[in-house]
Amino acid sequence: MRKKIVAGNWKMNMELSEGVAFATAINSYFKDHPLKDKEVILCTPFIHLGTVSSLLTVKGLTAGAQNCNDHKSGAFTGEISAVMIRSTGAASVIIGHSERRSYYGEDDTLLAAKTVEALRNGLRVIFCCGEVLPEREKNNHFEVVRRQLDKGLFTLPVEEFRKCVIAYEPVWAIGTGVTATPNQAQEMHHFIRDIIKNQYGPDVASDTTILYGGSCKASNAAELFANPDVDGGLIGGASLAKDEFCSIVNAL
Ligand code: PEP
Repeated sequence: MRKKIVAGNWKMNMELSEGVAFATAINSYFKDHPLKDKEVILCTPFIHLGTVSSLLTVKGLTAGAQNCNDHKSGAFTGEISAVMIRSTGAASVIIGHSERRSYYGEDDTLLAAKTVEALRNGLRVIFCCGEVLPEREKNNHFEVVRRQLDKGLFTLPVEEFRKCVIAYEPVWAIGTGVTATPNQAQEMHHFIRDIIKNQYGPDVASDTTILYGGSCKASNAAELFANPDVDGGLIGGASLAKDEFCSIVNAL
C-alpha cells in the first residue's frame, strides 16, 4: 500500500527561533491528533534541520531538506551534502523543485546525480516534476514530465526507485494562487503512474506515492486528494500557517 503524505516546503522562510516555535506547535497538534497511517514531512531550511528533527516526537512526523549537493564532501563552499542532512536526523530531501531548476539552472543530469547521492545516504527523495505554462498551452506537458522522470529518476534500479516519492507540481500553479483542477491533477498523476508501470511494473506503480503541489490550500485540498492517483500534497505557502497546514493534513 502506498503512503499518504503531506510535505510542507518552508522555502527560505522563518528565522531559527520562529521555525522551532512553529515545528513545536505542529508536533503538539499531531500529538493530540494522531496521524495514524499518514505521514507529514516538514522541509525546513538547512539551519533548522538539527533542532527541528530532534523536537519532532510524533509517529509519522519527520523533517526533510529542500535540496542537497551531488557530492559526498569536499571543497564546495556554501553547499550541504546528503550525508550532512542525514546526520541532522532528517529523513527526506526535495530534489528538482522548479525554483532550483529555474533560478539555479539545475538540469536533469545534475538532479539524477543528487538523487543517487541522497538515496546512498538513506534519505527518501521527493522528486519534483512539472511543466511551465507555455508547455501546457502547447499541449506538451505530458512529454515534459515524461522527460524529467526519464532522465532524473528512471535511471534508478527498482529497489532505489521504490524509496522515492514523486511530486507533480505544474510550475504555473506554484505560488500563483492558480491551482490545477482536480481533473488536471488526476490526469497527470494517472499518466505518471502509467509510465512508472511501463518502467518498473504494476506493483511498483501502484506502491509509488505521487503528491500534488501548486497553490494547494485548506479550501481545495480535499477535492484534489479525492482523486484516486493523488496521494497527498507538497505544500509551499500554506505550510507556513499552522491551522491551514493542519487542515490540509486533515483533508487527506
Ligand atoms: C511549492 O513550492 O512546492 C509549492 C507547491 O508552493 P505553493 O504551495 O505556494 O504553490
